[in-house]
Amino acid sequence: MTTDLYRLVYYSRNRLEGSREEVRRQIGDILAVSKRNNSAGGITGALVFNSGIFAQVLEGPGNEVEATFERIQRDPRHGDVDVLEFEGTHQRGFPSWSMAFLGASEQDRALFGDLGDTSGFEERRLRGEHIFDVMQRIALEEEPRAD
Ligand code: FAD
Repeated sequence: MTTDLYRLVYYSRNRLEGSREEVRRQIGDILAVSKRNNSAGGITGALVFNSGIFAQVLEGPGNEVEATFERIQRDPRHGDVDVLEFEGTHQRGFPSWSMAFLGASEQDRALFGDLGDTSGFEERRLRGEHIFDVMQRIALEEEPRAD
């Protein structure tokens, strides 16, 4: 087991405003900065935006994941950031993506289900694992257009 490899899974509420096109452009800006910063910090992962919700997986060295997430948490472009999982892992789920954007997929019900229902610690961990699994499946299916 690689000791310093961590995975963080969170979801948050979108605060981006504007037309579909403007929101898409703003997400493009977020992704461009993310790819630049994440490559430099050894971070990989994936981002989904659907139904007004972001879900993101960040993986990499613990200190880099924490520093990245600190910035993300303060970002006014989203809010109500809710961490489902932050723990050590033995391998990356998105090894070839500095930040895969999975876009608006048909699978958002499978992904998010009932987000209100995650009160207990174990439930939250399982929800985090579920989101990670579905995102990984989407990324692998859509590999040619992910980055
Ligand atoms: P710059 O991009 O130069 O930004 C400087 C400051 O301005 C930052 O505080 C930034 O938050 C703020 N800012 C920039 N543009 C806007 C804007 N349009 N509206 C409001 N504030 C703005 N960053 C990563 O490095 N990796 C990630 O994986 C990542 N994922 C993200 C996922 C989501 C859902 C969101 C909303 C943001 C994400 N970010 C990510 C961006 C992150 O929140 C910071 O904006 C970014 O890391 C800051 O990069 P920078 O220091 O190079 O500053």
